[in-house]
Amino acid sequence: MLGKKQLNNAGDTPLLLGHEDVPPIHEHNAAGRSPYLLTCDHYGRLIPKQLGDLGLPESELVRHIAWDIGIAGVAEALSRQLDAHLIAQRYSRLVIDCNRPPRTASSIPRISEATTIPGNEGLVREAAEMRRTQIFDPYHRRIDEIIDYRLHAGIPTVLVSLHSFTAVYAGIARPWHIGTLYHRDTNLPLRLLKLLRAETDLVVGDNEPYAVSDETDYTIPVHGEMRGLMNTGIEIRQDLISDQAGEKSWADRLARIFAEIEPMLRAERLI
Ligand SMILES: [Zn+2]
Repeated sequence: MLGKKQLNNAGDTPLLLGHEDVPPIHEHNAAGRSPYLLTCDHYGRLIPKQLGDLGLPESELVRHIAWDIGIAGVAEALSRQLDAHLIAQRYSRLVIDCNRPPRTASSIPRISEATTIPGNEGLVREAAEMRRTQIFDPYHRRIDEIIDYRLHAGIPTVLVSLHSFTAVYAGIARPWHIGTLYHRDTNLPLRLLKLLRAETDLVVGDNEPYAVSDETDYTIPVHGEMRGLMNTGIEIRQDLISDQAGEKSWADRLARIFAEIEPMLRAERLI
């Protein structure tokens, strides 16, 4: 049964996020002047109080299945260094994955890697809708609003979607330190690949460990491709950014490379 405090004033619409829960959207450096607009779909691992622990022990809720380990620190440092606006989402991808189309099974996963998520079993449609309307929708609406604002204000916008990946998935070790991810727009990813490969200490993935697709992604297809914005995804291996020193060194490296690319884009009148 839903308690009275979980009903809103407009009628009987149940609320997922109560007064103890923070809003899903986290923004950093909103007045940033950089053309790069940073997004971070898997920034946090919060769970709305009403959903408890989703039936999982703490040991599962700190793993990569719940969030992108290390990316929050990289994203904020990169936002500072580039003077770029960052829009991030605080709730766990196990509650709802903000980089999956809501129509897909992996939007609210019942199994992630080899872990069954009891709190996602047998969800009624209304419960799934609440997660979408109160976490997924506000986050993506905010990205939309910011892109609209920038377009109307004549501010160039290059979308950079930041992620991290686990070093070992389903028992298989991944060799890449970083990967660029893309689909229809290859302009920025290919520039990034070239500069990342010039760093002699790196193994760089070209659409590895994942490639962007309309079924497995949302942020790049919807906010980048459908709006005609230059874009790239970035995946950094989690063991490299598992402490503050790692986060800082990767933010420093990416800030240097993105700063190198910006004048090239301006010179070619791409932004
Ligand atoms: Zn991610």
